[in-house]
Amino acid sequence: MTEQILAVLPLRGNVVFPHTLIHLEVGREKSVMAIEAAMGAGRKILLLTQRGGATEEPRSDDLYEVGTAAEIRQVGRVTGGAMRILVEGLYRVRVAEILTTGAYFSARVVPLPEQERREETEALIHSVRGKFEELSRQSKKITPEQHGAVVGAREAGRMADLIATHLNLKTEEKQSVLAAADSVSRLERVAELLGREMEIIEVERRIALRVRRQMEKTQKEYYLREQIKSIQKELGEKDERQTEAEEYRSRIREAELSPAAEEQARREIDRLEKMPPASAEGTVSRTYIDWLLAMPWQKTTEDRKDIGRCARILDQDHYGLSKIKERMLEFLAVRRLAPRSHSPIICLVGPPGTGKTSLARSVARALGREFVRVSLGGMRDEAEIRGHRRTYIGALPGRIVQGMRRAGVRNPVFLLDEIDKLQTDFRGDPAAALLEVLDPEQNSAFTDHYLEVPFDLSQVIFLTTANTADTIPGPLLDRMELIRLGGYTENEKMEIAERHLLPKQLKEHGLTRRRIGLQREVLLSVIRDYTREAGVRGLEREIARVLRKTAVKVLRREPFAPLIDVATARAMLGAPRYRYDQAAPAPEIGVAAGLAYTQTGGDLLFIEVMPLKGEGKLVLTGKLGEVMQESARAGWTYVRVHAAALGIDPDFYAHTDLHIHVPEGATPKDGPSAGITMTTAMASALARRPVRQDLAMTGEITLRGNVLPIGGVKEKVLAARRAGIKTVLLPRGNEKDLEEIPAETRQEMEFIFVEHVDAVLAAALLPALPAGETDLIGEFAPFTPETTGTPFEHGQLL
Ligand code: ADP
Repeated sequence: MTEQILAVLPLRGNVVFPHTLIHLEVGREKSVMAIEAAMGAGRKILLLTQRGGATEEPRSDDLYEVGTAAEIRQVGRVTGGAMRILVEGLYRVRVAEILTTGAYFSARVVPLPEQERREETEALIHSVRGKFEELSRQSKKITPEQHGAVVGAREAGRMADLIATHLNLKTEEKQSVLAAADSVSRLERVAELLGREMEIIEVERRIALRVRRQMEKTQKEYYLREQIKSIQKELGEKDERQTEAEEYRSRIREAELSPAAEEQARREIDRLEKMPPASAEGTVSRTYIDWLLAMPWQKTTEDRKDIGRCARILDQDHYGLSKIKERMLEFLAVRRLAPRSHSPIICLVGPPGTGKTSLARSVARALGREFVRVSLGGMRDEAEIRGHRRTYIGALPGRIVQGMRRAGVRNPVFLLDEIDKLQTDFRGDPAAALLEVLDPEQNSAFTDHYLEVPFDLSQVIFLTTANTADTIPGPLLDRMELIRLGGYTENEKMEIAERHLLPKQLKEHGLTRRRIGLQREVLLSVIRDYTREAGVRGLEREIARVLRKTAVKVLRREPFAPLIDVATARAMLGAPRYRYDQAAPAPEIGVAAGLAYTQTGGDLLFIEVMPLKGEGKLVLTGKLGEVMQESARAGWTYVRVHAAALGIDPDFYAHTDLHIHVPEGATPKDGPSAGITMTTAMASALARRPVRQDLAMTGEITLRGNVLPIGGVKEKVLAARRAGIKTVLLPRGNEKDLEEIPAETRQEMEFIFVEHVDAVLAAALLPALPAGETDLIGEFAPFTPETTGTPFEHGQLL
């Protein structure tokens, strides 16, 4: 075959085969020049495909070595200098050399010989033809003309070229066909590509078929259902299950469920539709669907934006508590400014009736949010928090989900009451479940065992309350910020009663408009004689009692004075219920007044010491806990070591036992804070020095006689004042706590801050009495339980 020199037209992303006619758009300047040159040289041009496709300015080595020599049949110009040509592929050529001298590429080429026909070529042609026919039957892309041309092809090369043009191939694949050594191997390569194409088509066909079947099935079902419906209609009857299911489905549309909940509800409704109408299973299923539909998946209330107004509402609802209100406002302000921030969970800690619950309610009111309260007291089963699985008979969601349903919105203020009374046993750990509820990282997808689909708790404001922080499970305690409410003074109680409790109770008893009131003395008497508490719950209850009896009088039209006085109130309430421990009338030997902190506030605590003949034993009675016993021993050792300095026989222990007793004997007591009181009572008994009766003390003692700070200062000081004590000895380390005490109380009383027990004894002990008088004092009835009421209900001494 002879060599030729042809102008080169580089092709991007396309391969032109011999025996094909094709339109090409030519825009590149070099290519336009190549065409012009070809037109002057017998219209012959070389179509060479670019490797990689995209280059605007291909270099000679960007071009494949095998191309198609073609004849230009038509030339036309399109806008912008580009050309549109019609070319016919003639034969394949191999490039011997690219000549880059001119403004365009030209190439020296050698035509590639085509293989002679042989027997097996016939067979190959036959087989490929068959495959192609099958393909064109399945593919809509092949026109009848194209089909005819391929089927009519007699030579392997021609057939390969035609098919390769029609197949959906990548440029490299097309080029690989064009460049194959001879016509047989070209057709073989095409057969391979054809096979792959057929497989793809087959897969597509199968998918389409499946989709169609599915659609047919749904349509068929729909059609049948419609038929059933119309038959039923014709007969004038309707399946109640269907009616029910339809009703449920329409409720789903209104209920705005979360996507997961909606899917779950639909699935359950489908199940319900198939169950026998009156089955037990149906009931379970209905309850479940009702729960899903009743939850506030999307509903929220708008928060009130005005912090000033929040402050006013908190003030309106509660007297005093200024520090606590301030902290609550800060909490609300931070939530306002950074709603997504992880604010700590606030725990209001304090004795009953100090306004923890009503404070939480007030926070909700201030924000304009709904309020729910769940009491955790005595809860010991994890399922109470997280619900029972539906497989249990009578299963229900846990208290959290129940609370959310009651709230009716997904952003309420949620109060978890009595978190300190949570218990743990074999039924699982409710505290762990609660941790998940309170954890902002996890609670956006809280899963209740019953509900099964996650519920978003992240917009809930959780508040908790506790009577004491001591029994709150550790991990929970870590997550919470404690705000302590200490208990109220008598004056505070009076204010609360007049401003809040009385108006509230008047309203509740329908007495508001009758101008009924209580004399101040009545309130004072109720506080002193009818209640013993840190909070005001009992006070409120007694006020309610007086008003209830008054309401009866109003209805019976009995005459009564609108301003109720003490005598009337007494007649209604019965005999006074409490008498507080009062300071002893005169100094005594061997009895010292300590101060205790109990769950109902503070109280006076007398400690009695009696020396007995013996051999240095210490006898402790009155249900003293371990810490308190050890504290007594420390005091005893101190007194023994410093006996001489205290004016005590240094060998007293050799012939004396000491009996220490703390009444109320039946109430357990513990804690280190009676240390200095026990020491004082011992020193008093042994040195025969009376203890000042108008003085009370509290503080822990160390072996070396140092006095360490203790807790509950406010409650203890208030109790001392109530008992008529004038002077209170406190550890130096508690000086800062005096701030908490109302100014009037501070002014009325004297406080002595001590660092060492010597100072305690110096302040508390009077000079030793002469022997005769000591005996007299020794005969004092040391203590009369009758004067103590019931102080230590929970006996925790701090
Ligand atoms: P807690 O939850 O601490 O046991 P509550 O919140 O139930 O106490 O309070 C008992 C009652 O006392 C409620 O009626 C409450 O409104 C009222 N109360 C408590 N403290 C105050 C206060 N500082 N001002 C007004 N009312 C108060």
